[in-house]
Amino acid sequence: MPDCRFEKVSPRVDRFTPDERTDRPVLGAIRGTAGTLIVDGGASPAHLAAFTAELEAHNRPPIVGIALTHWHWDHSFGSAALDVPVLASERTAAGVAVQADYAWDENALRQRVDDGLELAFSLPHLLEEFTEDERTSLRIVVPQVTFAESHHVDLGDTTVELCWVGGDHADDSVVIWEPEDRVLFLGDALYQCLWGDPAYLTVAGTRALLQRLAPFDPAFALEGHDPDVADATAYATRLDELRRACDLVEQHGANALRLAPDHGGEWFVENVEQLLSAPD
Ligand SMILES: [Zn+2]
Repeated sequence: MPDCRFEKVSPRVDRFTPDERTDRPVLGAIRGTAGTLIVDGGASPAHLAAFTAELEAHNRPPIVGIALTHWHWDHSFGSAALDVPVLASERTAAGVAVQADYAWDENALRQRVDDGLELAFSLPHLLEEFTEDERTSLRIVVPQVTFAESHHVDLGDTTVELCWVGGDHADDSVVIWEPEDRVLFLGDALYQCLWGDPAYLTVAGTRALLQRLAPFDPAFALEGHDPDVADATAYATRLDELRRACDLVEQHGANALRLAPDHGGEWFVENVEQLLSAPD
């Protein structure tokens, strides 16, 4: 399986591709005349450092901050690799602060999985991403610059917007918008809630999320664990499938699953399945 790769997304935006072996998400870098803003702190300092080494090799401007899309470990545990401010919503900062107070040795981690405080899904990834020493000595950086709903970062010739959207995956989810090249970092906002067996989406959560995303009209949209970058058409299709999955479930209830293959592809059917898995 390939390691994370450096890729140019648009004239102002680069990304580091995800790596599912340890659930490393996409990292982003948005640059203006005043500096570079990193999108997500990454799974570990090693993860973020590998990306910043690439940025340096490509002569990108100095890094002025890290903006988090949500608190989950794979998006926030690498921030200590850089000595710059970490920006996040108040909800995200609170989520990271909870993680920062935990012990991270393997026994404590396994105990939290047993207690339902950590996802069983994350355990092998956390064990693989860090050695025991790295994990127990990890400095988890709690974001220093926080905001309630939205925040702007002036990078000189472009002003980046951080905008809370919430959703089923994590109620603190923020999207990060670069308006000149029209690049939208979605983090994991469109994904399902993993704290259920099976994982699920809710109609109310999905509809509210789609409404908060409506103002954005991206030329390029990046999801947290998607190896591909969506163009405008692929992004519109992605949102439309979520909208139509909600419609089908509302109209037909449990029968929606039988009808779903007539209305869309594999991804659409999966969305319907997840919507039907929502707890009452
Ligand atoms: Zn996540």
